Amino acid sequence: MKIAVIGTGYVGLVSGVCFSDFGHEVVCVDKDSRKIEMLEKGKVPIYEPGLDRLMERNVETGRLSFTIDLNAAIDGSEAVFIAVGTPTRRGDGHADLTYVMAAAEEIAKAAKDYVVIVTKSTVPVGTNRKVAEVVRAANPDLDFDVASNPEFLREGAAIDDFMKPDRVVVGVETDRAAAVMASIYRPLYLREFPIITTDLESAEMTKYAANAFLATKITFINEIAALCEKVGADVKQVARGMGLDNRIGNKFLHAGPGYGGSCFPKDTKALARTAQEYASPIQLVETVIKVNEEVKRRMVDKLLDLCDGSFNGKCVAVLGVTFKPNTDDMRDAPALTIVPALVGGGSTVRVCDPQGRREGEALLPSVSWEDDPYAAADGADLVVILTEWNEFRALDLSALAKRMRTPRLGDLRNVYTAEDAQKAGFQAYVSIGRADLI
Ligand code: NAD
Repeated sequence: MKIAVIGTGYVGLVSGVCFSDFGHEVVCVDKDSRKIEMLEKGKVPIYEPGLDRLMERNVETGRLSFTIDLNAAIDGSEAVFIAVGTPTRRGDGHADLTYVMAAAEEIAKAAKDYVVIVTKSTVPVGTNRKVAEVVRAANPDLDFDVASNPEFLREGAAIDDFMKPDRVVVGVETDRAAAVMASIYRPLYLREFPIITTDLESAEMTKYAANAFLATKITFINEIAALCEKVGADVKQVARGMGLDNRIGNKFLHAGPGYGGSCFPKDTKALARTAQEYASPIQLVETVIKVNEEVKRRMVDKLLDLCDGSFNGKCVAVLGVTFKPNTDDMRDAPALTIVPALVGGGSTVRVCDPQGRREGEALLPSVSWEDDPYAAADGADLVVILTEWNEFRALDLSALAKRMRTPRLGDLRNVYTAEDAQKAGFQAYVSIGRADLI
């Protein structure tokens, strides 16, 4: 089957590459000609482990290609996936659907024969019906169906998540569209994962409900962590004790500096906004959004305490700025709150991140960059672990402490313990949700 994918970002590119690996003929389209030029040269514009090799393999077979020419991509395609961004609209928290609707109109104008227009972007309930209206208005004679196929992949593990999904959710209105979607995902059936076929609205809601639930779980453990610090409990032990209960599960129970990334912040806001519009506010999600901001601010206070109440004149090494390890994505990363607070307080900040520099340089203009965590710590008064990259999980803490002017460690991912830090010669250590003894 020939498939077109509009948007070659984290979701579109991974989807296109994986669909071609299933055996489909895939054309990936992007408006950004620089991205397409890179892709045509075999270079991947984002950091996603394993994507370069899988892309190369499928380009070699002739099944995968890239273009800025939407018309050519759509010609003969039975399905067109919209995988463009849906950022937060400025001012009101609603998802900005400008890119989705523009793509829908372009598809309508380019398509000639029956096609299923599939929204893979995360879009508020009701959007697929609006996509259908836009297509109908732009090309009244076109024979088409719309389908909602929200994506659940995680950056950093995207290929595995796409190839071995827990489930695939497909919202359709006709048997014909359901059949096209089934044949697209058929190569995965061998793995016996569930494909959930629903109406359009349920598919759209499933994505937001899932993300809001995960954001709530993270925020829940972050609040428990704050209380653990006060009462002398250890949140790691508490989370383990909770997570071994099958009804709860151990995922998304790691206390940290607040959730970030390209999905949870914007999707929780968009869900809260939709709920308000329908006069059915989801107070729990509204609170999660508020608490997550407080969690990030609490991190700044923690570091301030560690620096005896002032960042002024201090030299701080920040290890990790991407919103999580194994991605170069900086969107809504906690670092974007915490690093400016350090700089604003008068610190000199050095950043070390295995993949974050390319995006981070523009977002964190007042810092310097180091490739090596030990070099970043040279003469520093504080080292902060903000993202738990593997590179920062087995540091030689003694060597790190020796290079510092004042050895203090802000471990905002609970990678180490107060005991580890003390043995290594740190004067002060803080982590999350534990009564740190030094
Ligand atoms: P992204 O910003 O990385 O990529 C979007 C791409 O679309 C860009 O390359 C942009 O140039 C291109 N584009 C925009 N309009 C276009 C048009 N009319 N024609 C051709 N190309 C166009 O976005 P992303 O992170 O891949 O997210 C895409 C969607 O998937 C969002 O709705 C997001 O919420 C959802 N999603 C993202 C993730 C994730 O982990 N990133 C996971 C699940 C779902």
